[in-house]
Amino acid sequence: MRDSFQLYRRLLAYIKPYWRVSALSILAMMAVAASTPLLTHQLQPLLDESLIAKNREAILWVPLTILLIACAKSFAEYVSSVSSQWVANKAIEDLRRLVFNHQMDLPVSTHQAQTTGRMLSRITYDIPQVGAALSTAWIVVIQDTLTILALLGYLFFKAWHLTLIIFAIGPAVAWIIRKASTGMRASNRTQQNHMGDMTCAVEEQLAGLREIKIFGTREHEATRFARIATRLRKETMRVVRISSANVPMVQVLAFGAVSVVIFAASRLAENSLLSPGEFVAFIATMAMIFEPIRRLTNINSTIQRGLAGAQSIFELLDLPAEADTGTQKIDRARGEIRFEHATFAYPGQETPAVNDLSLTIAPGETVAFVGASGSGKTTLMALVARFFELQSGRILIDGVALQDMSLASLREQLALVGQHAALFDDSVVNNIAYGRHGASQSDIETAAAQAHALEFINKLTQGFDTRIGTNGNQLSGGQRQRLAIARAFLKNAPILLLDEATSALDNESERVVREALVELRRDRTVLVVAHRLTTIRDANRIVVMERGRIVEIGNHEELLAANGAYARLLASGEDIVEDSGIAPLSALQAFNETMARG
Ligand code: ADP
Ligand code: MG
Repeated sequence: MRDSFQLYRRLLAYIKPYWRVSALSILAMMAVAASTPLLTHQLQPLLDESLIAKNREAILWVPLTILLIACAKSFAEYVSSVSSQWVANKAIEDLRRLVFNHQMDLPVSTHQAQTTGRMLSRITYDIPQVGAALSTAWIVVIQDTLTILALLGYLFFKAWHLTLIIFAIGPAVAWIIRKASTGMRASNRTQQNHMGDMTCAVEEQLAGLREIKIFGTREHEATRFARIATRLRKETMRVVRISSANVPMVQVLAFGAVSVVIFAASRLAENSLLSPGEFVAFIATMAMIFEPIRRLTNINSTIQRGLAGAQSIFELLDLPAEADTGTQKIDRARGEIRFEHATFAYPGQETPAVNDLSLTIAPGETVAFVGASGSGKTTLMALVARFFELQSGRILIDGVALQDMSLASLREQLALVGQHAALFDDSVVNNIAYGRHGASQSDIETAAAQAHALEFINKLTQGFDTRIGTNGNQLSGGQRQRLAIARAFLKNAPILLLDEATSALDNESERVVREALVELRRDRTVLVVAHRLTTIRDANRIVVMERGRIVEIGNHEELLAANGAYARLLASGEDIVEDSGIAPLSALQAFNETMARG
């Protein structure tokens, strides 16, 4: 109960900025509440004056009054509905933005600890639930409570002793509501988790469509999905059963009360304590009370769902964002990178992925990292970008420890070309200028040319303005990489992190991508996770990694001569590929340089 109260309070904070409109909606709700007993009250003059006493004036003004009150009530209902929905939707919009933005501020490790499905369903499923609790439920709770109070006031004023009977059933109703709500909230949370599983399954289906077809796992996936769907249905039905049961139970109690009151009121009428009009108005007013009571008990499930949604949203919003306490800023780094006993283990892992690693990389140097899969190369790159926090040791750029540098300043120094460049559903131009909005068209074209992307961009139907589809799936692997390279050219950062594709590219794409990379590497510090012999031979130094540690450093010839880990790696032929029939990079570089000199 105290939990719920705190959740409410926190949710109300999101409504607070819109208190003016909220106040308007409450005013309108008060008008609705007041007009309800006013309407039923009209039955009294209708019977007593118009029908029994045949008062000619009353025959005219009673229906007129009814019409006026009904108009006022309807108008107030309209205002209360629109204004409270307006407030709720404003709050939903704010929450959506907050969640979306906070997800970007979370550390990469937090993202890895959560399933994508659960993350997605927060915005698509949880937030609408909160919205329903804030709009529909808000109207029902406030308006119906006020209406019940107004009706009760009227009843009490007319015949307080009869009204006491209604109070007698109050505690019973409250008990039923409480009973139902405890089970309901737990059920709703389970339901939200199933929903996350479902979103996740659909995501995997879409991403792995080709694998599913080739590996013939359609049946397997179908069964898995069916199981999730069944679980979701069962949990949904549990909520339905609980919430459906409490409505009839309240109704039985209510009509029991009406019967008792009718009996008692008839006795009062016999003794002429109530006129026929008063009697009818009383019963009618009393009958009006049960609909709002029913709605109130029913709305509980909506509120519980909203609270469960709110809880899960607040859980996410309460996850700490990336620590960004460093204050030092670098304009443009020279590009010296120093690892000092850097150690990092993924959460829940005992052996560190990077283990007591020390290395100094000079400005402008290209260092190739090689090693078997799982030796920690990708992790090392991620550590330079501070996607993860070191457990011990330090990494310094130009002598400044990463922790002392503001995240924005650190990441400004870095360009990243990965194996799977994330592209956005936008034009080619905007994908290249990603992160540098406002770059001039000529800068963008230069970057595209440097990345050897011009020829294929010009062949697209609308050139630079072609939209490339969600995650760029209308482009080939080589084209996507060249866009990523163009992006890096445009960013022109002093440090380049390069995760070389293993073998995804055909020979021709590979050649162009490689040429583009040669240019990109010029005048920068480059850390490259290398798989191609040409890239490796081209580096100033080669760092051989094993289980998170450096086991050898040197150039190709030195390492070959040493006949150690590097030689074994080459011999195994698994993690390093030779490019066939392509001129060695050094030759290409020489050619390029000659061309540059004219
Ligand atoms: P490489 O890039 O050299 O193949 P990685 O840096 O990807 O190696 O991985 C190094 C080690 O860390 C491996 O043992 C791998 O299993 C582990 N690892 C990588 N990513 C994660 C993760 N997100 N959670 C837990 N362990 C991970
Ligand atoms: Mg890797």
